[in-house]
Amino acid sequence: MPPETASQTAPPTTPAAFGTVFCDWMTVARYRGGQWSGPAVEAVAPLALHPGAHVLHYGSSCFEGLKAFRMPDGQVRLFRADRHAERLRRSAELLCLPLPPVEVVEGMIREAVAANRDDTPHPPGALYLRPTLIGTEANIGAAGAPPAEALLYILASPVGDYFSGGGRPLTVLIEEHGMRSTPGFGQAKTGGNYASAMRHVVAARREHGADQVLFCPGGDVQETGASNFLLIDDRRVLTKPLDGSFLHGVTRDSILTLAADLGYEVVERDFSVDELLAWTAFGEAALSGTAAVLTGVGELIRDGRRHSVGDGSIGPNTRRLRQALTDIQAGAAEDRFGWLS
Ligand SMILES: *Cc1c(COP(=O)(O)O)cnc(C)c1O
Repeated sequence: MPPETASQTAPPTTPAAFGTVFCDWMTVARYRGGQWSGPAVEAVAPLALHPGAHVLHYGSSCFEGLKAFRMPDGQVRLFRADRHAERLRRSAELLCLPLPPVEVVEGMIREAVAANRDDTPHPPGALYLRPTLIGTEANIGAAGAPPAEALLYILASPVGDYFSGGGRPLTVLIEEHGMRSTPGFGQAKTGGNYASAMRHVVAARREHGADQVLFCPGGDVQETGASNFLLIDDRRVLTKPLDGSFLHGVTRDSILTLAADLGYEVVERDFSVDELLAWTAFGEAALSGTAAVLTGVGELIRDGRRHSVGDGSIGPNTRRLRQALTDIQAGAAEDRFGWLS
């Protein structure tokens, strides 16, 4: 069992499994009586929650995941914190949760970084920040009402390279019947969507040895349980256009921006499972997300049949785009889009 909290006196060189080590300090704000109080820096410790808390019964929770990086000059800087703060607000809106202004959320993220600065590993590691918003009102009668009390906290966790060196290519099961989420709610970063996807992911692992499930309801290629999905070749990047069915990834947006800058044609349009399988004969496929960055898919499984993507290894264009992003994040390339702050 991982300890509930652990601290490092020096930046760790080989952090534990992603998400299992927590820094000592979090920032916290509380909502009650129509007002937010705080924020304050508090020691990471078990939360006191009433057993009737809204979140425990009616799933009133949403979260974010972003990273702060240690620069060559020792500064620690956040990657696209504004986007993550805005997205937390969007998720909160969809869940009818109260949320402090975007400046307050961003300020709390910055304070969490400052409080845990010394625990920030060197690249390719990072300080992973996990803003979390939950409904805390003790009221099991409030099934159809938003919680009148809420808690926002920002946890910090030192993380390594999720898949070191870009990792091994993933095996992904194509799921055309089950859905990860529902139309409209798919863009909320909420535990409910993970809970909804879970049984499909568990079955894919157990029955097919798959790493992830690509949700393609009715043949429409959307995303996996926790990552966006992109098709890549020597001159194009193809992905689904933003709609309410899937999570609008900051990594997705960053990769598309970098791809266009590197001369790739960026195509955002819907595509089918048949088109996806045709693409695998010549192109590459990858998953994008803050934790995974950009990870190649080596194999797809549809109706029990295995289809190799290219030669089954991580393709050169996937590596190139991943490197372009990680170079900016590590401060090794110029931050031309103003993403670090
Ligand atoms: C967080 C998440 C992503 C990736 O978003 P990033 O902003 O790139 O980290 C993709 N899909 C789902 C379902 C997610 O929860």
